[in-house]
Amino acid sequence: MAEIRTVGIVGAGQMGNGIAHVFALAGYDVLLNDISQTSLDKALATIEKNIDRQVSRGKVTPEDRAAALARIRTTLKLADLGPTDLIIEAATERETVKQAIFEDLLPHLKPSTILTSNTSSISITRLASRTDRPEKFMGFHFMNPVPVMQLVELIRGIATDQETWDTLHEVVRKLGKTAASAEDFPAFIVNRILMPMINEAVYTLYEGVGNVKSIDESLKLGANHPMGPLELADFIGLDTCLAIMNVLHDGLADTKYRPCPLLTKYVEAGWLGRKTQRGFYDYRGEVPVPTR
Ligand code: NAD
Repeated sequence: MAEIRTVGIVGAGQMGNGIAHVFALAGYDVLLNDISQTSLDKALATIEKNIDRQVSRGKVTPEDRAAALARIRTTLKLADLGPTDLIIEAATERETVKQAIFEDLLPHLKPSTILTSNTSSISITRLASRTDRPEKFMGFHFMNPVPVMQLVELIRGIATDQETWDTLHEVVRKLGKTAASAEDFPAFIVNRILMPMINEAVYTLYEGVGNVKSIDESLKLGANHPMGPLELADFIGLDTCLAIMNVLHDGLADTKYRPCPLLTKYVEAGWLGRKTQRGFYDYRGEVPVPTR
C-alpha cells in the first residue's frame, strides 16, 4: 500500500476547507489550492473558526489545534501540488473545470501520486480515462459539513486498482471516519437514495397530500428522521437537489427519477433554501415559516 503523508487539495470552497481541516487534524501536511486568493483567505479563516469551536467543546486540544493549523499551506499555483502523495479535487462541480485541473496537474505529478475527485455526480470513470493513471484514480466523496459527518464514500472507477482502494480506505480510517464502498453509477449511494426521497416529499406537497409542516413532522415523528425531508432539502440547497435529480434522470434513463415540477419552480424563483433565506421555509424572520 502506498504511504500518504502530503495531500494537495484543489478548490478551497465549502468542501475544500472542510477536507483540509480534517486532514490537518489527522496529521497530514496539506497544500490547499484555489484560483481565488479570497477563497483561500476565507478557507483559512473558516478552518480556524471551526477548529476553535472544537477546542471550546473539548474535542481538540489547543496543542493539536496549533499543530493542525501549522500543517496547512495555501497556493494559487496548481503546479505546487506536484510533489504531494494524494490529490483531492474539490473545485466547482463542472466537468470541463475538473478535466482542465487534472490536465494541468499531470505534467507536475510523481508517478505514484493518487488522484481523487470529491464530485457528487460526475462519472469517475470518465474523469479517470482522460488522465495517465486511471488505475490510480478514485471518487473520494466527503459529506457536508466535513468535520462533522462520519461517512466518506469511496467510489471505484472501472479501472481503479485494489492498491489504490486499500490506500484510501486506510486514509479514511486515519481520519477517524467510516468508508462506504460504491460503484461508479450516477449519484453513488447516499444521493441515489436520499434525493428520490426528497423529490417524493416535494411531489407529496405538489399533489396536496400534505403541507410543508405535516410532511416534515410525519417523517420526523413517524420514521424517526432527525430532520424532515423539506427542511433537509433547504439545508442542502434546492438547486443542488434538482441538479442531482437531473443526473439520476439522465444517467439512469428511468422516469421514476423525474424531478418534481414544484422543485423546478422553487429553483426558477431563486428560492434555493437557507442560502437565499427562502425555500420550503422562509428564514427571514425569527423562526422558519413554511412557504406552503
Ligand atoms: P464551492 O463553490 O464552495 O467551492 C468551489 C471552489 O473551487 C471555489 O473556491 C472556486 O474558486 C474553486 N475553483 C473553481 N475553479 C477552480 C480551478 N480551476 N482551480 C482551483 N480552484 C477552483 O463548492 P463546494 O460546495 O465546495 O463543492 C466542491 C465539490 O465538492 C463539487 O464537486 C461538489 O459536487 C462536491 N460536493 C459538494 C457537497 C456540498 O454539500 N456542497 C457535498 C459533497 C461533494
